[in-house]
Amino acid sequence: MIDPHTIQQIKETARIEEVIQDFVSLKRAGVNYKGNCPFHNEKTPSFVVSPAKGIYHCFGCGASGDSAKFIMEHEKISYPEAIKYLGKKYNINVPEQAVSEEVSQELKERESLYIVNEFAKKFFITSLYHTDEGKSIGLSYFRERGFREDIIKKFELGWSPQQRDAITQAAKKQGYKALYLQKLGLSILKEDGYEFDRFAGRVMFPILSLSGKTVAFGGRILRTDKNTAKYLNSPESDLYHKSDILYGIFQAKKDIVKLDKCYMVEGYTDVISMHQTGIENVVASSGTALTENQVKLVKRFTNNLTILYDGDAAGIKASLRGIDIVLAQEMNVRVVLLPDGEDPDSFSRKSTAEEFHNYIKKHEQNFIRFKTELLMHEAENDPIKRAQLVTNVMQSVSIIPDRILRAEYIKECSTLLKIKEEILYDEVRKKVLQNTGHDQSKRYETTNTNIKTTAHIPAFVQGIYSEANEREVLYFLLNFGKMKLDSENTSETATKAAEYIISEIQNEELDFQNLIYKQIFEDFEKFLVINEVPDTNYFLHHQNPEIRSITAEIISPGYELSKLWKKRGGGEKPIEERLHESIPEAIVRFKFKILELMIADIDADISATNADNSERFIELFTQKVKLDEVKVLLKTDAGERIIL
Ligand code: ATP
Ligand code: MN
Repeated sequence: MIDPHTIQQIKETARIEEVIQDFVSLKRAGVNYKGNCPFHNEKTPSFVVSPAKGIYHCFGCGASGDSAKFIMEHEKISYPEAIKYLGKKYNINVPEQAVSEEVSQELKERESLYIVNEFAKKFFITSLYHTDEGKSIGLSYFRERGFREDIIKKFELGWSPQQRDAITQAAKKQGYKALYLQKLGLSILKEDGYEFDRFAGRVMFPILSLSGKTVAFGGRILRTDKNTAKYLNSPESDLYHKSDILYGIFQAKKDIVKLDKCYMVEGYTDVISMHQTGIENVVASSGTALTENQVKLVKRFTNNLTILYDGDAAGIKASLRGIDIVLAQEMNVRVVLLPDGEDPDSFSRKSTAEEFHNYIKKHEQNFIRFKTELLMHEAENDPIKRAQLVTNVMQSVSIIPDRILRAEYIKECSTLLKIKEEILYDEVRKKVLQNTGHDQSKRYETTNTNIKTTAHIPAFVQGIYSEANEREVLYFLLNFGKMKLDSENTSETATKAAEYIISEIQNEELDFQNLIYKQIFEDFEKFLVINEVPDTNYFLHHQNPEIRSITAEIISPGYELSKLWKKRGGGEKPIEERLHESIPEAIVRFKFKILELMIADIDADISATNADNSERFIELFTQKVKLDEVKVLLKTDAGERIIL
């Protein structure tokens, strides 16, 4: 029990924006702060923090509460633990009652596991400083490596004694359950019942969560022995999911926000040496390929990720594959090659922080360029390899969700590879369809022969939209997505309405501009990848209330589609029997409207352009001519009967 007076004092002292800022990057928005919600995945911030009211609220997922609630939810700990956390942050003493055997059994297992890891960390630190062996082997190793005392302390480095069961026995003596030590991988239980230490005779690197809790350890052996791995890590446990953790994130997060940039290195000693030099916005992926969750962790604090590679790393090519994950998260990924023979550890020991930062600034390249140049170097004059290279690089480009960024990369690659932009666009378009499981060429061969795709809109048409037309497309998607496009085609694989609509729109690089519609659209895309069409129920129970209400409105029987549509709708067969006509028509109308709006824009541009600027004139007129051509094609697609 924590006494109510202390709780009161903590609640009065804690400032919600400070508490949350340790985990989420917040920006001021009037009297409040705004950021990306840590409780659900979002791209536009809907998480609001009100210092005046002392609460947070997410308009996306509905999460809300005060400082203590935030810590509870975010760290998945109990209320008393959250209060203790806040007490620690604000230097308020929270009298802690001794953990008796009974109480410890009542504590949730997670909390017990944390306590055991905390014990282990302290045990390793004590062994480092206060045993002969720790001092003469562990500490002197760190010193020889050049680690300063303050840095050894900051990263809470330790020593695991050589005695085969040192920590296992010490923990037992303190009353910690052997089972917990085993669960955390600190002890290993042999078949004969003997328990021994996993890390005996290693220097220890505790691995901390975002909030600074010890979730696992890495241990480096000091003997050179070919049969023993140099580094050994804790196994996966309830506290440690390797793919969700980045080494150093706790120590780095403040500087990542401050510098709006994160460096990614390979491992423990890289992170530590860089800190020693004064570079603190650095984390390590711990040797493995980057995972999506690790990238999301960084993305909470910045969109700028720079990966540092050893000058002579053989593994660069292998790791290139992992990086597509980062691109998919809409991060600006840059890459730096360190000078030959240097890794971040050695290089930072030779430089000042300023020199290091400057080196990076001077040598970092965007990832696409890096990949292109690297592969180009290999392909040299081999035409087949060059063709593969184009496919390979465009695969990466196609993963980038932001169309404008994609366009920039295409332009750059076009120059680098000396290939026309249009050709690269085609390649990317193909990949986008493949990535989402929509290889159109295949699908239309085997299923529908009588329903064509409609004419393409040129790629320069961007950022234009018509709310009503988007809504019309959404109407068909939500109401008839699961139905066969052609009711007369009874084959199993016949194209479903949703498949047709999604591929028509994806095919154009025109996604919905209304963000709510866009989310619905994206959910359809996700389901289609696994060959499913989501139920309207899925949207009626969506976590986003706006999606719920729009869905309810659009699927309600009395919903008025559009006046145009009604005008010619009367007296015909029921709509579900002529989806093969009405849906392509809706798509054509959607595209047609966009063309008209774009042409109006161009007309306005033309009349505003100074007559002396003939280049600009020509550009605008060329665009206009192209759009007029597409209009004609669309009209042909639509046939006679459609009203555009
Ligand atoms: P040396 O002194 O021989 O250079 P090291 O301890 O620096 O050894 P390296 O083999 O150079 O280790 O490893 C490169 C980087 O990868 C270092 O930062 C190291 O700490 C880290 N590393 C190696 N293995 C792992 C691992 N299993 N988990 C996390 N980091 C690792
Ligand atoms: Mn090294």
